Amino acid sequence: MGRFLGYSCSVCGAEYGPDEVTYTCPMDGGNLDVILDYAAIAKSTTAGQIMASREESIWRYLPLLPVIEPGHKGTPLWAVGWTPMFRPDRLAKKLGLQNLWLKDDGRNPTASLKDRASAVVVARAEEIGVKIIITASTGNAGAALAGMAAAAQMPALILAPKNAPQGKVAQLLMFGAKVILVNGTYDDAFDLSLMAADTFGWYCRNTGYNPFTAEGKKTAAFEICEQFSKATGKVSDVKWGVPDAVFVSVGDGNIISGLHKGMKDLHELGWIDRMPRIFGVQSQGSSAIYNAFAAGTEEIKPVHATTIADSISVDLPRDGLRALRAATQTGGAYIQVSDDDILAAMRTLGRDAAVFAEPAGATPYAGLVKAVEQGLVRPDEQILMLITGNGLKDIKGALRAAGKATVIEPDLDALKKALKQSDSRAEESGR
Ligand SMILES: *Cc1c(COP(=O)(O)O)cnc(C)c1O
Repeated sequence: MGRFLGYSCSVCGAEYGPDEVTYTCPMDGGNLDVILDYAAIAKSTTAGQIMASREESIWRYLPLLPVIEPGHKGTPLWAVGWTPMFRPDRLAKKLGLQNLWLKDDGRNPTASLKDRASAVVVARAEEIGVKIIITASTGNAGAALAGMAAAAQMPALILAPKNAPQGKVAQLLMFGAKVILVNGTYDDAFDLSLMAADTFGWYCRNTGYNPFTAEGKKTAAFEICEQFSKATGKVSDVKWGVPDAVFVSVGDGNIISGLHKGMKDLHELGWIDRMPRIFGVQSQGSSAIYNAFAAGTEEIKPVHATTIADSISVDLPRDGLRALRAATQTGGAYIQVSDDDILAAMRTLGRDAAVFAEPAGATPYAGLVKAVEQGLVRPDEQILMLITGNGLKDIKGALRAAGKATVIEPDLDALKKALKQSDSRAEESGR
């Protein structure tokens, strides 16, 4: 397959052939960027050809991916991506923005953006003849791998922290993966999974560590630009449009790195004229990359993560350097928000945009509120929020944001009384 040339280390820049390494740089452990042959890609396809594709999944971008076409057509492996993008007008009005966009990646087969990474890693695993695949996960990466592995009928083993939300653990179990909960944090599970993969010879999907995760996640950038072109009528055979600013939540930093890589691919191909500013949003309780950004350094120091947003609760980000550069190299920024900001964002997204997001999924909105306050975006700019996961995955978090329902006896008087009480409560809270 001609377009996959190899890897380059994000730390030292050393380059490797496609079969020379599997995970990280042998010299310094840096995460590897996949090198593509853009000239070969430009010969094999065009922006216009892809725009005309009838394939409604990430596989419409196969000519830009470093894998061969996977089998299993008609399974959820072929239902990943091509998630809806729309204009949440009421939210825009609330923020005083004229051109706000929302892309809902909670509408993937296992209800998070992680399906993009797991689908491409599973395709790679099949290509290189892997028998067993393992990952550490806060929940979603594991659910995505379990789901995609079930579609490909490949055995999978998931290590997650024992306090992962029940909805995510249920998903892992339902897809038939071997699920082991670790009495420790995500970071503990991560280290254990590396040792296990090494000891037993399993293929490791770990976020950032496996170069194909970012290659899967970059498809979100492709969709953003292609869908943005279609929605704004800027359709051409050779070019796609691009928003001015993109907001995404950040834990390990692999989604934001993937977004950046996808935009760079399109820019290299000349399909977009400029890069969007990329904004990473972290919880105050898990803000290792924000801290480095604020200090103006590339040295990322671990924190002791505590946040309601479990999907971005990370002590040591596993893709921190690339994640930091996604913002610094595009003129974006890092923003930190509190757990209360995140809970409020969940409510607002539900009420004003009809999107039910898990805490980490709603975090970009909380960040956008701050960015508007701080003047980091202009009211007339094209701004996109990427919602990364569905709220049903974390019912406890959702109920913390949404509050409790009233229980009454089944009679009309009790209903009237309850309605009156709820009206006066709404008035008090100013809604
Ligand atoms: C994994 C995840 C994130 C964060 O992605 P990173 O690559 O860890 O930065 C955000 N939101 C959801 C729903 C996730 O599952």
